Parts: sequence; C-alpha cells; structure tokens
Amino acid sequence: MVQSVSETYVTYLVEGRVIPQQNDNRTPDFDAVVVGAGFSGLYLLHRLRTLGFSVRVFDGAGDVGGTWYWNRYPGARCDIPTTDYTYSFDPELEDAWQWSEKYATQPEILRYLGFVADRYDLRRDIQFNTRIESATWDDAASLWRLTTDQGKHVTCRFYVMATGCLSLPKEVDIEGAPSFAGEVYYTGRWPHEPVDFTGKRVAVIGTGSSGIQSIPLIAQQAAQLTVFQRTPNFSVPAHNGPQPADRVAQIKADRAAYRDAAKWSRGGIPTEISEVSGLTAPDDVARARFDEAIARGELFAILGVFNDQGVHLQSNERVAEMIRERIRSIVKDPETAETLCPKDHPFGTKRPCLDTNYFETYNLPHVRLVDLRKHPISKITPTGIDTVDESLEFDAIVYATGFDAMTGPIVAVDITGRDGVTLKEKWADGPSTYLGLTTVGFPNFFAITGPGSPSVLSNMAVSIEQHVDWVSDAIAYLRDHQFTTIEPTPGAEAGWNQHNADCAAITLHPTANSWYMGANVPGKPRVFYPYIGGVDAYRGACDEVAAKDYLGFKLTGPAGEQCHDGVVRRVQPDVQLVLDMMGMLGLPPLESLPVPDARAFMEQTNAMRMPGPEVGEIVDGQLPGAAGPLDFRLFRPPTPGAHPVVVYFHGGGWVLGDHVSDEPLCRDLCVRTGAVVVSVNYRHAPEDRFPAAADDAFAAVRWVADNAVELGGIPGQLVVAGWSAGGNVAAVACQRARDEGGPEILGQLLLTPVTDEDMTRPSYVENADGYVLTAPLMQWFWDHYADPADRADPVASPLHGKLEGLPPAVIVTADFDPLRDSGEAYAQALSAAGVPVQRIRARGHTHTSLTMVDVVISGAPVRAEIAGALRSMLKAPVPA
Ligand SMILES: Cc1cc2nc3c(=O)[nH]c(=O)nc-3n(C[C@H](O)[C@H](O)[C@H](O)COP(=O)(O)OP(=O)(O)OC[C@H]3O[C@@H](n4cnc5c(N)ncnc54)[C@H](O)[C@@H]3O)c2cc1C
Repeated sequence: MVQSVSETYVTYLVEGRVIPQQNDNRTPDFDAVVVGAGFSGLYLLHRLRTLGFSVRVFDGAGDVGGTWYWNRYPGARCDIPTTDYTYSFDPELEDAWQWSEKYATQPEILRYLGFVADRYDLRRDIQFNTRIESATWDDAASLWRLTTDQGKHVTCRFYVMATGCLSLPKEVDIEGAPSFAGEVYYTGRWPHEPVDFTGKRVAVIGTGSSGIQSIPLIAQQAAQLTVFQRTPNFSVPAHNGPQPADRVAQIKADRAAYRDAAKWSRGGIPTEISEVSGLTAPDDVARARFDEAIARGELFAILGVFNDQGVHLQSNERVAEMIRERIRSIVKDPETAETLCPKDHPFGTKRPCLDTNYFETYNLPHVRLVDLRKHPISKITPTGIDTVDESLEFDAIVYATGFDAMTGPIVAVDITGRDGVTLKEKWADGPSTYLGLTTVGFPNFFAITGPGSPSVLSNMAVSIEQHVDWVSDAIAYLRDHQFTTIEPTPGAEAGWNQHNADCAAITLHPTANSWYMGANVPGKPRVFYPYIGGVDAYRGACDEVAAKDYLGFKLTGPAGEQCHDGVVRRVQPDVQLVLDMMGMLGLPPLESLPVPDARAFMEQTNAMRMPGPEVGEIVDGQLPGAAGPLDFRLFRPPTPGAHPVVVYFHGGGWVLGDHVSDEPLCRDLCVRTGAVVVSVNYRHAPEDRFPAAADDAFAAVRWVADNAVELGGIPGQLVVAGWSAGGNVAAVACQRARDEGGPEILGQLLLTPVTDEDMTRPSYVENADGYVLTAPLMQWFWDHYADPADRADPVASPLHGKLEGLPPAVIVTADFDPLRDSGEAYAQALSAAGVPVQRIRARGHTHTSLTMVDVVISGAPVRAEIAGALRSMLKAPVPA
C-alpha cells in the first residue's frame, strides 16, 4: 500500500517493511514492475522473487485472479480441462490442490488463484485497485518511469505487462446504449453481488464464448430471453463431469512426462495428432473420427479431426458440416437451427466454443433468437432494443460482446519508448514483436502472451509458464552477466514478424472476420495477432534464442555490449514440418543406397503423396528420343480448344525419376497456366551417362514442337521447363535449339536448376546438409552422370555456354538449396547477355519444397507467380 509520496518517488509499506525512497534518480524503486495479478502476474512475482529480484505488481482489480476476477457471469468456466489448465511449476502445489471437475467454474478457478497467492505469500507485493496509466523509458537512467491512476510514480528496471489477452472488454458502440433505464451487465465486468433474472425479460447481445456459456443459465431464470446474434459460432458439447480418466491416469503414472508432453505439444495439452486427411478420408472414417472427437468434449479434439482441416477448405468443410448437422438435429425449429449454423467462416478460424445445453436452450418456449444480419439493431432505447423492424422491451441487457484482444490491454497504457515513440504509434498498423515478448525501441519491456506468441491459440497455463520462465531467465542472465538492458534488433523482429505472417498465411485463418484478426474492433489493424506455429515450435524458437546467448537481442551494461544478431526462423513453417517429419523417420541418405534402391524408395514416397489438382485430361504416349522411344505424360487443361504447350523435364539428378515422378507439379502448372504440359522421360545415369539426358531432352522438344497440333497445342506457343536436373537439360535444350535450327521457344522456366558443376559457392556451404538435396547427394548425382572432364562442357553446365539470343527465362531459386547460387549465377549471366530474365526467389523454401503440391501450402503463391510469368511469355489468358 502506498504510504507517502515524494516529488517523483513513492515509499511503500510492504508487510511492515519500508522500501526507502530513492534519491539518485538512477536507481529504480524495483527491479521489476509487473502489471496484472492473474495467472501470469502471480507466477512472475513468485519466479522473480525466487531469483532474488525486488518486484511490485499492480492490478486494477480488487484481488488476484485476472480473468477469473472479472468474468463472474453465470456459466463462466474454463474450456481447457483442469488437468491441464493449472500451474505445473511446483509438483507440491499440484499435490496440494484438487480440481473438482473437468471444466472448473469461475469461482473455483478464482479460489485456486487465491490459494496460490496465499501459498507463496504473494499479496504482500501486490498493489490492488491501482491501474498503471503510463510508462516511459528513461534512456539516460536505463529505467522505466510509471504513473498510476492515483497520480503516483514508480520506477523499475524491467517493465512487464502481464495484462492478459482478454482483459479489456470491447466498448459497446450501439446507438442509445447509455439511455437504457433497466439493468445493464457486461460479461467481462460482472458484479460481485448475485444477479437474479427471475421473472425478468432479458436480452443477451453476443454469441461468442461468454454468450454461449451464460445463455443456458440465464434462460433458466429469465421469464423471457432474447438472444441477439450477429455471427453464429461453432460450438460442441463440453461433456463436463469428472476430470478425464485417461488424462488423470497419465498424470498419476508420470506427471513429469505428462507435463513435458504438454510443453512440447501443438496446443499446450497432450493430444493425439490425427493422421487422417479430410481430403481423402472415406465417409465412414470421417464420421468415426468426428464422433470420437465429439464424445471427447475437448477443443483440441474437434480442432484435430483431420490433419489438414486448418489449411484445406474442403477438409475443413467436412467437419463444419458435421457440426451443422448436429445443430440441426438438436434445434427443433428449422429456421432457428439454420440461423445458428455458422456458414461465413471455416471451422476453427474463430474461437470455437464448448457448451452445456446451448443449442437445446433454443427449444425452450421463452427463448428467442434474433438474427442481426437480417434484423440489425437500430438503437437501444430507455425501455429496450429497437431492431429495424420491431421494438422489444427488456428489464435487463447483458452485453457478451467480447474483448479488444491481445493488443488492447497493452496499448491502453500510454507506453513511450526510446526517442519519445509510443507503442500505440509503433503498432498503428499492427503489432510488431520479437517472439511476441519484446519490441524494438522499448528496452527492458516484456509482454506476457503478447501478440506474436501462441497465447489464445493454446492452453494458456502452459504458454504463460513458458513466457514467465523465459522472461525471468533473461532478466537473471542480464544480472549474472552484468548487463542492464535488453532489446531486440530490427532484423530479428522483422524476421519474427515474417515468420508469424508465414505461419498464418498457410492456414484458413486470414479468411475469417475474427477477433484473432482484429476484426471485432472498428479501426483495429487486420493482421493475425497470435502465433499459430504451435506451442512446441514456439518453445523451440525461444529456447534456441536463449541458448545462442540471446540471438537477435542487443544487451548493454557495465559488461559492455553483446549482440548476436540474426533471425531465429527462416524456413517456411510447413517446409520445416516436412523436414521434421523426415528427420523423425530416420531415413538413410539417398546417396548411401544402391541406385535401384534409391529409385524404389522415390517411387514408394511418390505413391503416398497428394495427387495434385484435377486436370481436363491425361494422355500417356511415346515420342522418339535421341536413341529410342521416350515415355511422356500429357496434362490437358479442362478448357476446350487448343492450348499453348509446356515441355517439362523432371528432377532427380539425372539418376532418379521419370515422366510421372513430378506429376503433382505438372498438374499444378497445367491448371495454373492453362497450357498443355508434356512431361517427358529421358535416359538416366548411370546406365546412360552424359550427354544422354541432354540429347533426349532436345529431341523431345523438337518432336513436341513438330507435333504441337496433334497434341492439342498451338503451334509456336512453346515453353521449355524443368526442375533441378530437368532444369539443366531444359536450359541446354534452349541453347541447342538456338544453335541447331530451332524449334522456336518462347521461354524457359528453370526451377532450382543445376547450371554448372561448381560446388564451392556459398549456397553449397550454407545448405550442405539438412534440406533434402544435400551437397553429398549432389556429388553422387554428378558422379553418376558425368566424368569430371565433361562437367564443364556447356551441355552439362549450360552456364559455360553462349547465352546471347536465348529465349526469355523465368529462374526460380530457393533460399535453402545448394543450387541457389548456381541458379542466381545463370540468371545474372543471362541478363548480362541481354536475355530478359524474371527471377523468382522462393523465400524459406528448399530445393524440393516447391514441388510438394497440396502438402507445402506456402509453395502455392510461388507457383502462382511462376504461372503468371509463363502466361505472360505465352500471352495466355488467366484460366477460369
Ligand atoms: C471467460 C474466459 C474464459 C477463459 N477460459 C480459458 C481456458 O479455458 N483456457 C485458457 O487457456 N484460457 C482461457 N481464457 C484466457 C485467460 O485469459 C487466460 O487463461 C489467463 O487467465 C490469462 O491470465 P493473465 O494473467 O495473463 O491475464 P488476465 O487474467 O487477463 O489478467 C490480467 C490482469 O491485468 C490487469 N490489468 C490490465 N491492464 C492493467 C493496467 N493498466 N493496470 C493495472 N492492471 C491492469 C487486469 O485487471 C487483469 O486482472 C479465458 C478467458 C476468458 C475471458
């Protein structure tokens, strides 16, 4: 409690201990100030105190609890099972507390947080009923100067916002709202005294989590209940009751292992990962998985019916439709049922809900649903609510209208960093953070579960503990290494923002008007606020940053300056998933296998992949190669008439693959370009060494050009394309066509091509290992294909050939590819020779990832760009 105030500093009486006034203006009152006394603030206080720091916590609430202090509405409960929505930092605490049910009520969770506060004697360092209004970084003194709503001042070295993601209720912006003369309630600021709706006419506005939890209970008391719904929400039954027996058993058997599994899971709760794709699952399998998830009554079960429901609309729609079927089967009035069926967003892109009798409530005679999309509210009056077509009278209105999530509570404080820049200004176009924890220009500032961290997409108890541990460890590291400040570098922050955006871009989330996207608050920037890469991936990134002596941070202090600048995650998230999966399989390196085994392995892998998009027609045939017939497969677009032609050569290091091995990519090219794609096989090494493959490729290009009409192509509208070694023979074919009398080629698409034999370029060194095409594998390919003496020949290394007069080129390179610099070198040399070149750099991709159609979703925009470039070469219209 505040005892006296000097000009700038406050003296605190804490448990009878006076913390003396500071008078040198450079020594902070506290090592750390924490704002918020919920799950986050309580654990922070405990951790920092244990590490020997002086800490002061402020909260506008009258007691501990945060979320659970404010949200006292009827039916308020957690929706992560209490086996997991609980602190795990102290096994003795776990033994000392017994949750009574699967999803605890708000009073029980509040009691728990009070119990924790008592157990660790936390309240003595918490100042309640006090809001922090402003925080200003004093660069000269390297400390934060804070002001409370009582006009008091306090300073600290480290300023931590533990202000919660869902703690600032959204302002009600309905005309006339203040004029209502009846009772008004906000679910996020529910009174402490009991509220009795018996005999009353009650309106509930909003059908998000709070609305869905409270409506069935309000309906039990009210004489009339009218629910005003703007967006219907997906909700499934919670099946509340005793804690899940299987989870309890696992915890009893080995609690440490269970907690560790939670920490390294995607959502912060051990959950089986589905191996079933919603794109391909037969109906009975899909139904069984759905029924199982419904019976489980857990959010992550229904969010994981299929392994691809978060990224593929078609897969998502199967789950969504099964949920709608449930709603229709429960709600008796068909029109009400249809109004309650969400149709404007994919399942999971808005926070789904767990409920108890929510949909059943609409079968009660005194409960009515008003669809605000059809009957918008025109105004609130002193006696009730007017929609555009009727006036309704109420005794009470309950606003369940949600929160200004994630950034709202942070920027509600006037936070000014270095050079007078405010956080509000910095985040005007959306939050920018490093790891969701820190932000450039605001030294020694941390946000627990801030934007850019998994937070609201996870079991927050696990995410909070991880953040608190990371922040506490960082502060201890500074002290132990004689640093006083920590701040991210602009490069590290930009890299994290990019990674965050990449993670969101491959999901369906950006398609929804959700609060995850800031869409519920007028004027809020439309970006994806939380980190969707997973709790496990996130923890891995944070651990790596710390292990690399705070990669991407600048530390300063008496010890001098330390800065290991860098970006912690550069590989596209879905590419990384594929790499991780391959790593887990422990496959032998291809180059360690005999050639027939390597070929058999590739065929087996290809048999399991996604087929690629539907095309109009597929035709198999043979054409004359340089030394005998070659197989080809032709992919025709679904549109009628003749089409431009792409002659395509597969990858495989001149050793592996054939005319069907790149089929998903060929289909994708066909559909995106509107061209006939003819994928031609060629002779392979070691049976047929250099220059067999190149000779066959050139022969094939000639034959296709000569037979364009028979193939359904437009004569003269021909592009040559290839991936990897296929890019190599495609480039050679273009050189030979120029020198040996045709055919006329409108363009060449070289996708991560081999353009010379030089294996000393930086990309070979940087990507020597770990990205599928390794330096040893490339060596193996070369050794099979060409004698060292032949490798510099332009027919093996087209970069050494004459480049003037070649067709325009599209050259695609990937960041994590040994061949990257060889492709770049070819692009540069072509440009220097006057050949028009369009370079496409696949950021975060590997040599192989762009070809993984429908698996590596982040490759799709790159392939769209490639197709656009090809279409303009062919002057082909955009396919319908
Ligand atoms: C109804 C509801 C149900 C939820 N259920 C779950 C669940 O089942 N599982 C789950 O993982 N998560 C759930 N959450 C999310 C929940 O917010 C977190 O789980 C967790 O409680 C957050 O704890 P916190 O300490 O980070 O923040 P909070 O609990 O939100 O506490 C933040 C505190 O900061 C204070 N504060 C904010 N600004 C200031 C300021 N300027 N000055 C002083 N004090 C300030 C607030 O008064 C508040 O007390 C739920 C949220 C809600 C609203």
